[in-house]
Amino acid sequence: MNKLETLQKWINESNNIVFFGGAGVSTASGIKDFRSKDGLYNMKYPYPPEEILSHTFFMNNPKEFYKFYKDKMNTLDKQPNECHKYLVKLERCGKLSCVITQNIDGLHQKAGSINVYELHGTIYKNKCMKCGKDYKVEDVFKSKDIPKCSCGGIIKPEVVLYEEPLNEDTIYKSINSISKADMLIVAGTSLKVYPASSYINYFRGKYLVVINNEKTIADNYASLVINEDINEVFKKLR
Ligand code: ZN
Repeated sequence: MNKLETLQKWINESNNIVFFGGAGVSTASGIKDFRSKDGLYNMKYPYPPEEILSHTFFMNNPKEFYKFYKDKMNTLDKQPNECHKYLVKLERCGKLSCVITQNIDGLHQKAGSINVYELHGTIYKNKCMKCGKDYKVEDVFKSKDIPKCSCGGIIKPEVVLYEEPLNEDTIYKSINSISKADMLIVAGTSLKVYPASSYINYFRGKYLVVINNEKTIADNYASLVINEDINEVFKKLR
């Protein structure tokens, strides 16, 4: 049996699968990973992306933050890929309990997934920092300079910035799901971003599968490691 056949067999056997995904799931939809070292950002922006996407920077320099954010995080025109679509199928037939993602682009929901835990938040939820009023994603991306509420407050996306804690409820639900799963598929993440990456340590099930194009810290104890393109892998599953 080759690796894909093994993966298919295990999926068929399992009834409580959890999917844990990272940036690689989105790059397969043409969304650039801002952490990738292509030098693009450094050339165009006077600060590194990690600094721009920090809480301190947002508070001190919202104008510059939004310039970067609107330019790089506007993924509204991007479409779900084979991985997103396959997970919808697994959820609908009752095999997948949830998707846990480090991505903020909302592509899992766009594909049709219901149970999605977004560890790093989402561009789709936006709130006025002063009065708490909710705003649509379009209100943010179409605004000029800094998006402002009718009350005058600044609208902030519910995206977890550097220095900000993850949502406790999301952490709890993610860990709880992982600890009960019989199969955990970790895909498109090299598990370098803490604390999200540490949650997979709660897995007590049978099959831990890693699908990633580079090495991850989980490779050593995974039941199966597939170093292939995500789209290609999920296209072949049924
Ligand atoms: Zn307001």
